[in-house]
Amino acid sequence: MAARNRVLVVGAGPAGLAAAARLLEEGQGRLDVRLVTLGHHVGGKADSWRDRKGRLIDHGQHVVLGWYREMKALLRRAGVDVEAHLVGNGGRTFFYEPRDEGVHELKVARNPLHVLLLALGYSGLSAGEKANIAGFVISNFASFAGGQDIEQFDDICFTAWCLQNGLSPSIVQTSAFYASRDAQLNWPGEISAYLMMQQMHVVGRDYRTTSYAFCDGGMSERFWGPLLRYIQGMGGEFRMMRKLTALELDGDRVSGAIFAEPESAGHHRVDRSEHRSAFEGPVPVKPETRALDQELDHVICTLPASAFRLLNPGDDRFWGIPEFARIQNVRSVAPLGLQVWHRERLTRRYDTVIAGLEGPLRYVIDNKHIIRDYRNNPRYGAVLYFVGQETGYEEWGDEDLLGLCLENVAKLPGFERIDRKGVDHYRIVRHRSPAKQYFLTEPGTLKYRPFVRTPISNLKLAGDWVRGELDFPCMETAVRSGIEAADAVLEAA
Ligand SMILES: Cc1cc2nc3c(=O)[nH]c(=O)nc-3n(C[C@H](O)[C@H](O)[C@H](O)COP(=O)(O)OP(=O)(O)OC[C@H]3O[C@@H](n4cnc5c(N)ncnc54)[C@H](O)[C@@H]3O)c2cc1C
Repeated sequence: MAARNRVLVVGAGPAGLAAAARLLEEGQGRLDVRLVTLGHHVGGKADSWRDRKGRLIDHGQHVVLGWYREMKALLRRAGVDVEAHLVGNGGRTFFYEPRDEGVHELKVARNPLHVLLLALGYSGLSAGEKANIAGFVISNFASFAGGQDIEQFDDICFTAWCLQNGLSPSIVQTSAFYASRDAQLNWPGEISAYLMMQQMHVVGRDYRTTSYAFCDGGMSERFWGPLLRYIQGMGGEFRMMRKLTALELDGDRVSGAIFAEPESAGHHRVDRSEHRSAFEGPVPVKPETRALDQELDHVICTLPASAFRLLNPGDDRFWGIPEFARIQNVRSVAPLGLQVWHRERLTRRYDTVIAGLEGPLRYVIDNKHIIRDYRNNPRYGAVLYFVGQETGYEEWGDEDLLGLCLENVAKLPGFERIDRKGVDHYRIVRHRSPAKQYFLTEPGTLKYRPFVRTPISNLKLAGDWVRGELDFPCMETAVRSGIEAADAVLEAA
């Protein structure tokens, strides 16, 4: 009998979980799959956990879009009743527009022409601006609808492209416009025109709906935990608290992976005097825990770009490989989340995201009616999740961020009772660690991003920043990338 191939999958975010599941589903018993990850939760940047009082903590809010076909299919195969755990947004988002200090509703578009129809109905725009959008969409329809090669637009920022092609400067200053690109946490910088068009193509091409939904509980409890159990049920091995620090090469192959145990005290190595939350930098490792794993035939590495860049420090051979050297040019941002458990209820029910807030936390949602734990809990009237990234606000303490967010929401109808007095508890999640940073989709970086297949014959990369069918960082991209990497291994194994 032929020896079984040993596949090491590093990282247990959506990409690593998808890769491990696919290998076991399709490997027909030919593979030994070992999934190894840094922390002690599964789900990566989409994970969730509970604090000592049992409150659910998330990185912000994870939206599951209607067209996340592969992610949902994978979860269903793992036995998750996905639809039972998704609470729909009613096909709409709200935007706070500072110029008229109003909250305006926008339905979610299904295709470029639908964008036009919705824009024409958006109460946050003047009649002249609506006419301008109509002309703009019609004259640039080919770019939005997939009629031309759009990769050429990667070096241009989306806002500049829109202005050059006739969109009025007043429109690019609306929250509704900002949020279309801000959703990838790329402020104060810009997003590439290619990435925005690519999203429109994906939406317009082959998916039924762009409406989105929220999970009714912790993502790790509802989705990633059952997926891990599915992997283990198929014979996959799982090891946590192992930090990959280097990949050893032998010719054009990976011959070993060097791991060390993370130092959990590293989480607390921060200046608490300012009441600042944890994860200030790279997760330190315990001395004397370095171990070389040579039991591998193939490796799928799903580290975020920010963590991949720290592998093999000083190793000129590894970083001399042009495909890897280019990765040093991409950047990432530190995600920021704020959760506020408030005693008072909102006087207006939104049940979806309100975008367009000022500062680093631009989105807010009330999870009181979304997350099951809170629905009938009389202690909490509102459970507000704010999400964003911290660029420009790195020096702000937790209490300052809370103050800014409360001030921002005080302007919104329905939030009249939300003030500092009513805060039962709050929690900032501030991820500066490279292991948790989010890929920055700035213009001109497509050429630096790697593909799933690398020049190292038995090394595949996967993750939301690795080039593939979608190219914009989200859970579905990560899942598809993991599946693509697994398929490449299955082909070779
Ligand atoms: C605040 C916030 C909000 C978001 N909102 C949405 C949303 O609404 N919808 C959506 O689709 N996506 C959203 N995302 C993006 C989504 O979370 C990511 O696209 C997705 O998690 C990427 O999956 P991944 O597997 O590629 O990487 P990750 O999720 O980053 O997983 C990587 C894994 O590798 C591990 N790791 C890192 N370094 C090492 C190392 N040295 N050794 C071993 N293991 C290591 C990590 O611990 C982690 O388990 C959001 C992200 C953030 C931060």
